[in-house]
Parts: sequence; structure tokens; C-alpha cells
Amino acid sequence: MSEADHEQNTAIPLNDRTRHPNLWFEDGNIILATKFSVFLVHRGLLSWSSPVFADMLSMPQPDIMETTLDGLPGIPVVELSDDDEQFTHLLRFCYNARYYQQYMPTTFEIISALLRMSTKYQMDGLRSEIIAHLGVIYPVTIEKYVETGKPDTQLSLFPPFEGQHFAVSNLARETGALVLLPAALWKASCEPEHNISRGSVSGDGKKHQLDPLDVRKCLAIKLEYYSIYVKTSFTIPFRTPSLCVRSGREKCSKVALVLLGAHFAQTGPCDILLHWDSFDCWSNEVCAACMEVAASLFLQTRKYLWSCLPGRLDLPGWHIVASNDSQIPQA
Ligand SMILES: [Zn+2]
Repeated sequence: MSEADHEQNTAIPLNDRTRHPNLWFEDGNIILATKFSVFLVHRGLLSWSSPVFADMLSMPQPDIMETTLDGLPGIPVVELSDDDEQFTHLLRFCYNARYYQQYMPTTFEIISALLRMSTKYQMDGLRSEIIAHLGVIYPVTIEKYVETGKPDTQLSLFPPFEGQHFAVSNLARETGALVLLPAALWKASCEPEHNISRGSVSGDGKKHQLDPLDVRKCLAIKLEYYSIYVKTSFTIPFRTPSLCVRSGREKCSKVALVLLGAHFAQTGPCDILLHWDSFDCWSNEVCAACMEVAASLFLQTRKYLWSCLPGRLDLPGWHIVASNDSQIPQA
């Protein structure tokens, strides 16, 4: 017996499934059935919302059968394979456009369900809005990425949760939202090694784990970029400009070196594309000319590492991932 046959045989009989309390309209003219629920809704609204529904409902299909739902003779029933919760979110959105609004705070459950469902039901406008909204935290430019460090930026999307970057990476892979992947996998790589390898459990008890290939990519880039960070942190202070006003024991590079040693003795890897922690420990202790030159070199290095990010994660370059979907690169 195939898995599908088994599923069919163990399905709850139609009349025993829960009639959704809010998505049950007495004047509805089509019944949609998921594994545990039935919805009495409007054929015209569904067809207007999605070309897939329009096709599905415009012609007789083998899976549109005579109703067997008690007390509702003549209303056709369509069996759907969608997840109950995710499909409910989609229907709620179809009936109430304010259920999800671009750039307004929502929940991960709603935004992830709507991205999956809008992809499946070819609701391109909704899909584009959601991807651009997720791009607030998983952007395509380093300038936007720096803003993701502010708590307000995350809260404009949904409340942060343990394992979020693993969950978003998996969601982006599943829905083909390639444009979100470089930043999502990079943020995933900034998690502790143990979490990258074994996954993290969020407050609602769900485990979020990358697939083994992405685990390897994240661990590799974490090591590679951290090595570059340490090397660059110790190299740049020696690029002393001719305008440096200090010399001898007070020389800026010597001051920086001592402070850098203390810094790295106390700290481990950080999100180096967000912020260059090792510069903070000495930037205010050297002359203005040295500080300015170093700041510019650090910025150049971070921009270079950002430009290399998709390639290092075996993804196409930024211009290709950005054109693959709707998130427009912003200056
Ligand atoms: Zn100096």
C-alpha cells in the first residue's frame, strides 16, 4: 500500500471533520476539506484570489465529488492535501485583507503559512509582499543588513524566536525564495556551532534544524569568515597613515595591538557583517587619522565579504538571487 493510499484509508470521514467556526458561511457555495476541517466558502472569492483555484473550480474534476456532508445537499466538496493550519491562514487572508499586511508586525506562523500557500496557489502579489517583508531581516544589501541589528527592525516582522534563522532558511528553500537565503544562512551561521549542527527548539516546542548540506555550508563559512576577521583585525592597525601623529611606545598600531590581544582573549565569533566588534576596542584610543583609515578599511572588508556571501554558500551571485524573486535591492 502506498503512503497516499494509507493516508486515504486513515482519513477522518467527511462528516466527522470540524466545521470551521469562522470560515463557515451559510451562503457559501463550495466546501473545502482538509484532513481535520471543512470550510463552507465562496467559489467566486477563491477564483478571484488565485488562478489555481480558478482553474480547479471552473471545470469538473475527479476530486470534486457529490457532497456527502450531512444537511448540505448539492454543495460540491473539494478535498485538499494542504495542512489544516496553513490553509486556514490562507482562507482568513482571502476573507480579510488586514489579516496580513506588508510591513506590519505579524507572527511567523502566519507569514510562513501564507508564503507556502501563496506559492502553491500562485498568488504572486501576496508572495512578493511577504518576501519583501521577510527581506527586512534577510536583505540583499549590507546597508539594510546593518539595520537588522536594531531590535525595532526585527519587531516589524514578527517576535524573534529560538531557531528562527534555521526556520527561515528552510522556508526560503521550500518556497524557492532564493533571495532570502544568503542572509538567512549567514544569520544561521552566526548561531553557536552546537545549535547549527543539532538545531534549536523554539518556545512552542518546535524544533528547527537545517538540512545536513546547509549545516556543512554554515559551519564552513563561519570558520572561513571568522579566520578572515581575526587576520584583518590584526593587520589593519599596521596600515598606519602618514598623517599619524603618534610615535614610539605611543604609536597607534602598538596601542591597538595590546587592546586587540585583550579583546580576542575574552570574546569569540560574532556577526562580523553586522558589526566589527574588534575595532570598537581600540578605535577611540588612537589618533583621528589612524581611526579614519582603519574605519574605511574595515568597511571595505565587510562590503567585500558581503559581496562574496552567496558564492561562499554555493548560491548564485547577488544580482541573480535578487532578480529571482520580488525583493528589490535597495540602496
Ligand atoms: Zn595614529
